[in-house]
Amino acid sequence: MDLRGLFAPSRVAVVGATEREGSVGRAVMENLAGFPGEVVPVNPDRETVLGRDCAAAVSEAGDVDLAVVVVPAPAVVGVVEEAAEAGVENVVVISAGFSEAGSEGARRERELAAVAAEYDLALVGPNCLGVMSTPSGLNATFGPTMAPEGNISFMSQSGAFVTAVLDWAAEEGMGFNDVVSLGNKAVLDETDFLGAWGGDPETDVVLGYLESIEDGRAFVERAREVTAETPVVLAKSGRTEAGATAASSHTGAIAGSDRAYEAGLRQAGVLRVETVQELFDFGRALAGQPLPESESVAVVTNAGGPGVMATDAVGDASLSPASFAEATVERLEAALPDAANVYNPVDVLGDAGVGRFADALDAVLADPNVGAAVVIACPVAVLDWEDLAEVIVERQRASGLPVAACLMGGERAAPAEATLADAGIPTYFDPARAVESLDALAAYRRVRDREYAPPASFDADRERARAVLERAADRGERRLGVEAMELLDAYGIPTPRSEVVESPEAAERAAREVGEAVLKIVSPDILHKSDIGGVRVGVAPEEAADVYEELVARARSYQPDATLLGVQVQEMVDLDAGTETIVGVTRDPQFGPLVMFGLGGIFVEVLEDTAFRVAPVSEREAREMTSEIDAAPLLRGARGREPVDLDAVVDAVGRLSQLATDFPAVLELDVNPLVATPDGVSAVDLRLTVDPAKL
Ligand code: ADP
Ligand code: MG
Repeated sequence: MDLRGLFAPSRVAVVGATEREGSVGRAVMENLAGFPGEVVPVNPDRETVLGRDCAAAVSEAGDVDLAVVVVPAPAVVGVVEEAAEAGVENVVVISAGFSEAGSEGARRERELAAVAAEYDLALVGPNCLGVMSTPSGLNATFGPTMAPEGNISFMSQSGAFVTAVLDWAAEEGMGFNDVVSLGNKAVLDETDFLGAWGGDPETDVVLGYLESIEDGRAFVERAREVTAETPVVLAKSGRTEAGATAASSHTGAIAGSDRAYEAGLRQAGVLRVETVQELFDFGRALAGQPLPESESVAVVTNAGGPGVMATDAVGDASLSPASFAEATVERLEAALPDAANVYNPVDVLGDAGVGRFADALDAVLADPNVGAAVVIACPVAVLDWEDLAEVIVERQRASGLPVAACLMGGERAAPAEATLADAGIPTYFDPARAVESLDALAAYRRVRDREYAPPASFDADRERARAVLERAADRGERRLGVEAMELLDAYGIPTPRSEVVESPEAAERAAREVGEAVLKIVSPDILHKSDIGGVRVGVAPEEAADVYEELVARARSYQPDATLLGVQVQEMVDLDAGTETIVGVTRDPQFGPLVMFGLGGIFVEVLEDTAFRVAPVSEREAREMTSEIDAAPLLRGARGREPVDLDAVVDAVGRLSQLATDFPAVLELDVNPLVATPDGVSAVDLRLTVDPAKL
């Protein structure tokens, strides 16, 4: 959607403009005083407002590009309809009293959205602070501060947060292009602004503070396109209600709504932050600095302690300390006193003047092994910080590498910090923050470099899978277990030889066919079979009949009215050579199907060592999941064990992701365990919940 009319109008009408002290209508008029275009107050009861001639109605205000509405809530829908009739295409509804204010307000908001849809309006709000755009000099808000100019566009679901941030940003030397307070998002939401800014040459970074995302999938798809060109940093607070499905799987229990956000935003290449501080730290670095070519960082400092702190922070981040080329070390040796440290972190010593910093920076920034640098200066008498700031700016520009600075002082650092901020070099008191901002640059570099891979597609026998689900639905069953393992077979996921039998004799016969066997009770009413002693491993064929009776007896005593479908006789899988993993599926109301991979077995929920992605996943995403969990080293072959067949694991994750995408009727599904061995994978257990209405 093209939202330029919203941010760069020629003629703005303020509907509900007044001179009343302390009113929103007056504040908006005052904020528009500096707008270079035309401003028309609309108020039937006044001749003029703050010296401007009033129109009695928006239809009499001439060719209006943007209507800012501040009338009381009950009048809003009428006014907006009138504006739309008069040909206005962009509307900002500042007025409150909508869905945030009970059912009457919610009804009003639906009416407003309906009018907007009918006239195809670009409408911001209601219940918002307004919009700003520095290139067009537009401040259509009732906030106290106009944004300073810059290349960051910022959206916020909280209006108060906008005012707070702008106030603070001015001091921090941070500048903005467009700013929008989203309000109740009756029409335009985060996905629309993301799209608009993604194509905007004036916006180099998009920042967002969001409490909810209206349509997770749409947002992820848009963000995926935008982040290929423009970095997007989001702080997402609050948690949405848990999914509509009451979780009866491990995957559902672990998922929670935040896992979906985490996964979706990550797949879309959005940098997600936890704190407001990070939001603006990252924003500032991305807006002012180039992306690093490599992840190795050089530290130049005049004090040992902060240098070590910075180096520790490098280790905690996705960065690594640069190890200098020999020529660099020699150059540093020649330029610095004997006592200086010429290895990373470079310590130019406490008595260093600006010259030593300049020499050290020249040396490290020329080193091909250095991707980025942090400069740390503690206050000492021989060092002029303003000179140092200039040296940093100059050297950063000449090298084209990203640099972050730490001037570890208070008031006295301010002028030097201003010089750095003007040049786009982020400055911090804390060395760890400086490193984290470089880490954000590296993280975005990885996003930019990745190639979009479409979800893998697999041969699957969909008809056979559908038949399994339909058979269960016909029996009125929503919860299926190992009796439905044919589903996995239909999707090409390896399963051990198994058979569900209904008599002790049949159990013995089936056990003879597989040699040593595992026997499991099969009942839709028993979720965790081993919890009731319903699984017996290592059963010899001659014991199978007795074990059959025993399992059935246990199930009966556990729950007399449980439906028993029989006993599954399954081939043994060699667990000693393998690792029990879990692959699961759940559904999120905003993001749709999610796939989970993790360390499996009976302690899944205790360990919660899992990774999530929005389905369908690409092969790369499935592979990332297998390397992301804490137990990844186990899969790669820790302590002399042979590595498992990771390709087979990745394949199984991809296939289940496709199953989830193909069948919305599968609400939740766990394969736990999927035993991964050096020779492949084997799905030994299955549980799923089906919604027959979606078949
Ligand atoms: P549940 O999860 O309902 O208790 P499972 O079928 O997952 O039942 O079995 C529980 C555990 O028994 C598994 O985690 C695994 O350790 C072991 N097990 C199950 N089937 C096999 C098999 N075919 N080969 C080896 N071990 C198995
Ligand atoms: Mg299990």
